[in-house]
Amino acid sequence: MRKRVRILGTYIDLISKEEAFIKLRGFLNQSSMKIVYTPNPEIVMLAQEDKDLMQAIEGADLVLPDGIGLLIASKIKGLGLKERITGIDTMDKLLAYCGEEGKSIFLFGGKPGIAQIACENIEGKYQGIKIAGFHHGYFQEEDEKDIVTLINSRRPDILFVCLGAPKQEKWIYQHREELDCSLAMGVGGSVDIYGGKAKRAPKIFQRLGLEWFYRLLKEPWRIKRMTVLPHFLIRVIIKG
Ligand code: UDP
Repeated sequence: MRKRVRILGTYIDLISKEEAFIKLRGFLNQSSMKIVYTPNPEIVMLAQEDKDLMQAIEGADLVLPDGIGLLIASKIKGLGLKERITGIDTMDKLLAYCGEEGKSIFLFGGKPGIAQIACENIEGKYQGIKIAGFHHGYFQEEDEKDIVTLINSRRPDILFVCLGAPKQEKWIYQHREELDCSLAMGVGGSVDIYGGKAKRAPKIFQRLGLEWFYRLLKEPWRIKRMTVLPHFLIRVIIKG
């Protein structure tokens, strides 16, 4: 039975990393498409004002808590979230699994050229993985049909969508009936990490749950986006 909790209205799965990965592997062996998101506090805040985003998250098959803020909120409210499960860690594990099983991926998103480099790097790192295709994320609305057709013609096992939040969550949800893959997952800036355009925080930052702080040091202009965290926690305390 699926256990979920709600943080400011947004459903998050109550699941450990290990259980999540077992579930993900199961998804890859089913015929209907499954949707996975990894929201952080910023997205939970956005979802309160954005019905489409809230609906997309509610309709997903697995929602993992990416962001230390969600764990703090869970502690405050006694919700029992087990641990932080980041999008990039989950993607890493899935890529390794695809390598072992010879499964295929399609990478959609990022600036023109980046998804291709990311796919080349992924192919080098995860021996045995199949690259079904890639497409950049700067398209017009009228191109969307062609992009869906391209993805479906390649029949990937996993579609990674890197359009940033909340665009990727809404895009996947909006096209869920048309997409032909086993798993569609929103993974934000991961394409830039695999494409060598951005670096992951050093392990010590990762272990302490301070990746956001490392990112702030590297991209100080994000400060405005990040002030959302104290607002989020205050809202959790007040409204729950
Ligand atoms: N991006 C895209 N199309 C867009 C907007 C963004 O492909 O219309 C890409 C952008 O190039 C970046 C990724 O989405 O590679 C994620 O952006 P960001 O780091 O802001 O998202 P986050 O990881 O914070 O969700």
